Amino acid sequence: MANIFMRFPGGKAKALTLSYDDGVEQDIQLIDIMNKHGLKGTFNLNSGLYPDEGVVYPQGHVHRRLTAKQAKETYLNSGQEVAIHALTHPYLEQLPTNIVVNEIIKDRENLEAQFGTIVRGMAYPFGTFSDAVVEVLKACGIAYARTVISTNDFRIPKDWLRLTATCHHNSPELNNLAKKFVEDKVTRAPYLFYLWGHSYEFEIKNNWHVIEDFAQYVGNRDDIWYATNIEIYDYIDAYNRLIFSVNGKYVNNPSARTIWFEYKGKIIEIAAGDMIEI
Ligand SMILES: [Zn+2]
Repeated sequence: MANIFMRFPGGKAKALTLSYDDGVEQDIQLIDIMNKHGLKGTFNLNSGLYPDEGVVYPQGHVHRRLTAKQAKETYLNSGQEVAIHALTHPYLEQLPTNIVVNEIIKDRENLEAQFGTIVRGMAYPFGTFSDAVVEVLKACGIAYARTVISTNDFRIPKDWLRLTATCHHNSPELNNLAKKFVEDKVTRAPYLFYLWGHSYEFEIKNNWHVIEDFAQYVGNRDDIWYATNIEIYDYIDAYNRLIFSVNGKYVNNPSARTIWFEYKGKIIEIAAGDMIEI
């Protein structure tokens, strides 16, 4: 028996995803930058906080939430994922459980109706959570929920309802991590670069170049899989469902997608529903 290492679609050893929350006007510019460089990610929306259509923000107001109509125009068909951020952006761990249920399930139901899709992702408002909140997410069918904990590494998540990130875009480590991510030759466990932030922060700090430079450097590369949060979750979930014989010779892929892994230095591809001998 030799080592087996997960690989992403196409046999790639690296994946990159972004996560930006609150559904603000600056997301429009961020999505432009992401799409220009082939980056994918997830936008977490509070469907209970859409301002009225025609809202006019005071001069200098940076946290300009998109209206429901603008949000639809911005995210639908953008190639990016829409996910929940709770209905009204509360400190969830402070609330009675029934109100947490309402915050989660209503936001999910609203976004599913608005975008005509199934929504299973989440980012915690303020990054705060508790075991009781996690139990509610499970009951509401939420697959993953991002915290604001940075690992400064490229680990593959295990606890998806307490999902950690690689770093925030303001991290002093951003450029070092990007360089390591791009330059390392991955021969063992795969790399996931998970970047998070808020797009209005680029306006506050007047530093859009941070994300432009990052996107230009890490984007449009053949050896990186660019995917939304849920695409990465679903792929890893399917990988984890591969069934191996005891001697490791036979592999069955019971999932509905092609899966890749590295075995004895070779990339093995196993189609949906197949059983192969390796
Ligand atoms: Zn937020």
